Amino acid sequence: MGERRPTLPLTGGCSCGAVRYEITSFPLLLYTCNCTNCQPASGSAFALNMPVATKGFRIAKGEPKGWHHLSPSGAEVASWFCGDCGARIYGSRKSRPESMNVRAGTLDDTSWLTPAAHMFMRSAQPWVAPWVAPRASPAADAECHEVGPDDFRPLAKKWRAMWPEFFPDE
Ligand SMILES: [Zn+2]
Ligand SMILES: [Zn+2]
Repeated sequence: MGERRPTLPLTGGCSCGAVRYEITSFPLLLYTCNCTNCQPASGSAFALNMPVATKGFRIAKGEPKGWHHLSPSGAEVASWFCGDCGARIYGSRKSRPESMNVRAGTLDDTSWLTPAAHMFMRSAQPWVAPWVAPRASPAADAECHEVGPDDFRPLAKKWRAMWPEFFPDE
């Protein structure tokens, strides 16, 4: 844990390889979301969300399709996926064009991923809660939130402190 250090650019893509992307600036955060939207969207227990600066993200191959809809809170959001294999790759929010939420499981190298927090633990599947709390991310000292923090800035600061080589000004 914490031994693996990634290098930029990060690369990834969908299951079939039709859509590929490249990330040239280090992700802003990594967290799991256990909400009841992320569970069906991921087909799993939680989504592994990795916000990335839009200017540091580019599609290197193919063209993702977008599903435009309203979030439960009424925000205009879009989920971007491969039109061939259906893998979800990232999400975007109209009111927050400066970043996008990459599904971290689509990275080619997931060995270094260490979530800094677990969100929406109030709807986590029963087996998840006892598992993440003591064990998932000792290196990150991951925070567990019933929903999420009102202010993400302290959490983002903690994340940046985990990766001093990418955030030397912290
Ligand atoms: Zn695909
Ligand atoms: Zn969620």
